[in-house]
Amino acid sequence: MKILVINCGSSSLKYQLFDMDDKMVLAKGLAERIGIEGSILTHKPTGKDNAVFEQPMKDHKEALRILMDALVDPVCGVIADMSEISAVGHRVVHAGEKFASSVFLTDEVIAALEECIPLAPLHNPPNLMGIEACKAILPDVPMVGVFDTAFHQTMPKYAYIYPLPYEYYEKYGIRKYGFHGTSHRYVAQRAAAMLGKDIKEVKVITCHLGNGSSIAAVDGGKSVETSMGFTPLDGLAMGTRCGTIDPAIVTFLMEKEGLSIKEMDNILNKKSGVLGISGVSSDFRDIETAADEGNERAELALKIFTYRVRSTIGQYAAAMGGVDAVVFTAGIGENSVTIRQACLEGLEFMGMKLDKDRNNTRGNETFICADDSKVAILLIPTNEELMIAMDTKEITQA
Ligand code: AMP
Repeated sequence: MKILVINCGSSSLKYQLFDMDDKMVLAKGLAERIGIEGSILTHKPTGKDNAVFEQPMKDHKEALRILMDALVDPVCGVIADMSEISAVGHRVVHAGEKFASSVFLTDEVIAALEECIPLAPLHNPPNLMGIEACKAILPDVPMVGVFDTAFHQTMPKYAYIYPLPYEYYEKYGIRKYGFHGTSHRYVAQRAAAMLGKDIKEVKVITCHLGNGSSIAAVDGGKSVETSMGFTPLDGLAMGTRCGTIDPAIVTFLMEKEGLSIKEMDNILNKKSGVLGISGVSSDFRDIETAADEGNERAELALKIFTYRVRSTIGQYAAAMGGVDAVVFTAGIGENSVTIRQACLEGLEFMGMKLDKDRNNTRGNETFICADDSKVAILLIPTNEELMIAMDTKEITQA
């Protein structure tokens, strides 16, 4: 069974084609600069040379047409005909409180996702554009939506309601939603498999540390707490996002600096985080290099980042009343030996003992804890695309 996974941004389209009989990637690629000059699609077929298509793509539909041509191309293609594709799985960022799991993208579901646009104005519209384009080109192929927010719908009400007047929850849906759900779910499932246990029996803290970062407490396979909130701005310090700050700072700064809502929003989302602290970069590789060279603010940025991760791990162990495994994933979590080590520093008292040699690795699924660590510490590369393909297969076959 072949499944195409689509992830649309405002001017980009990422795709992967899976053969779900062996969960192998047949091809993947990225279309960039959709709707602007210089559109380009890079197609990477497994076992063949990459192909680059530089041609105008005025919208996502045109990008999809080009990628579909690439999939069946005699040279760089991997299938003979588009009819080999049994289903398409779409990543959708926000499904509000409407969906707690992946579903078929019926007209009713699409209408419900459109209603969530105010909650994710930058993400849901391109996601929906991709769905619409795909439906137009492949009208008879089943389409499944997989939502970043869905996994966190199991949080208890006392975890997701903010201490604000309750009417704002009722009127505007202001509550914690959480994001990166597909990644947290995937690595939590892999963690249980690596421990050789039923996921219902384990308490896992999953640290998705990338350009955007979030941590989830996953108890018995269900998300019970997570660090991102109403939006992906909350929680940890990130590349350019501030994470949790005293909300009074917002009005204080707006008044002092005469900032508009848009300007303030831009500062919190684009100019803060480790970039804002260090003044160097939002990329942790650059910050680590600068810190190594003695840049004190870069060092401070790393300290703030890892301190927040460490504190959140402690908080979530308390929230679940215990923890069996801590997982590191995503760009930083999978690649930075020193950041993983700093995130766990001082947590031996909680039974988390890192093995420095085992930790000296990148991007492979492995235990990085000492043999006598009471809590397993795992490195698990995330694979949101595979999770989307697995959901799509399950729903289509059911
Ligand atoms: P992601 O959003 O998961 O793609 O993660 C992207 C981020 O991972 C980049 O911004 C980098 O900061 C970080 N990253 C990738 N490789 C490394 C590395 N070797 N060491 C430290 N950080 C890394």
